[in-house]
Amino acid sequence: MSDPARAAANVAAFPAAASAKAARAAPFIRIEHITKRFGTFTAVSDVSLEIQKGEIFSLLGGSGCGKTTLLRMLAGFEDPTEGRIFIDGQDMTDLPPYERPVNMMFQSYALFPHMTVERNVAYGLKHEDMTAAQRTDRVREMLALVQLTDFGHRKPHQISGGQRQRVALARALAKQPKLLLLDEPLAALDKKLREHTQFELMDIQEKTGTTFIVVTHDQEEAMTLSSRLAVMDKGRIMQIGSATDVYEYPGSRFVAGFIGSINFLDATVRAATGETTTVDVPEFGGTVTARAIPGLVPGQAITLAIRPEKIQLARSRPEGANTFAGTVENLAYFGKDSLYRIKLPSGRVLSVNSVNARRAGENERVADWEDAVFLAFDPAAAILLKD
Ligand code: ATP
Repeated sequence: MSDPARAAANVAAFPAAASAKAARAAPFIRIEHITKRFGTFTAVSDVSLEIQKGEIFSLLGGSGCGKTTLLRMLAGFEDPTEGRIFIDGQDMTDLPPYERPVNMMFQSYALFPHMTVERNVAYGLKHEDMTAAQRTDRVREMLALVQLTDFGHRKPHQISGGQRQRVALARALAKQPKLLLLDEPLAALDKKLREHTQFELMDIQEKTGTTFIVVTHDQEEAMTLSSRLAVMDKGRIMQIGSATDVYEYPGSRFVAGFIGSINFLDATVRAATGETTTVDVPEFGGTVTARAIPGLVPGQAITLAIRPEKIQLARSRPEGANTFAGTVENLAYFGKDSLYRIKLPSGRVLSVNSVNARRAGENERVADWEDAVFLAFDPAAAILLKD
């Protein structure tokens, strides 16, 4: 199983529950028709979005899609060209950053190298109306929250990357903002530490109840962390939903292709009745039974999309619909799973991902190079996309 698939399958339980809860509550943040133009260039285009209190909401998209610009408008560092931003029912659009109940954690962490960890965290409280004792208490509380109690006297260069990230988080949370904006919070960490820190971030968010909006280009990170996420492209929101929603029910070719890997095939609707739709797929040389979507008519051209891990490989022809013959053109063994490239008689090559659940020797694989095999997939795994 690919990593995004695992994120959707394993971690989605939390986001799904959170998103169901979120849907019932009044919105904490309301972004209404926000557009940002720099000269003639539109960086953010007519974005409307509602985020609930206590959510971890991610803005996910490729470089230049406008996610940082949207975050900066929430913080007040950038004025929208059009539209309004409400936080906790209050119109924030014309307020300067320091009058908003918002704090931002920057990608670089921006820690002061000459200051100790404690002083870096205390710096976040510089403009707060507090006594010295209250400030000391708050710093201690924040360091305990991020599990750095014993590191207060060190300088940033005397701690690890992951610990620096936690200092930045402690500093950003010290003012107890209602909303914390995090710009690529884990980008500076290596893969292992990033995975570990994702769970820490979720834990800290739960303890403080602060609403987090995270900007990331890392789909796995967005899927693991978020109660819901918005996939952005060219300044627009393409889809909003839980990790499971966007992975299992992509609404467009863009979202399907952006999150995880997927096989796209051209198809024509043959019959659309009830819960399934049959489509003719020339590259399969036959028909496929797929999950129905509304509004299809026979003869309509459509895209069929199937995730590589939803296709089963077998040596003998399985029973049921959606079974096709092919040949193993290539295979890559990754330890936990293998990626097969299966060539159909039409010449089309499909990606198939197979989990290596058993400890197998070389000659015990499901299939080997040049083997004749059968592909099978459930109608529910066959996604139809209109655009
Ligand atoms: P990345 O992941 O690369 O940071 P992003 O999605 O955060 O990308 P933004 O920083 O929001 O992207 O930028 C969106 C678009 O707006 C980009 O094409 C960028 O060049 C442009 N842009 C951002 N700030 C300005 C500015 N001050 N003046 C002109 N264009 C800008």
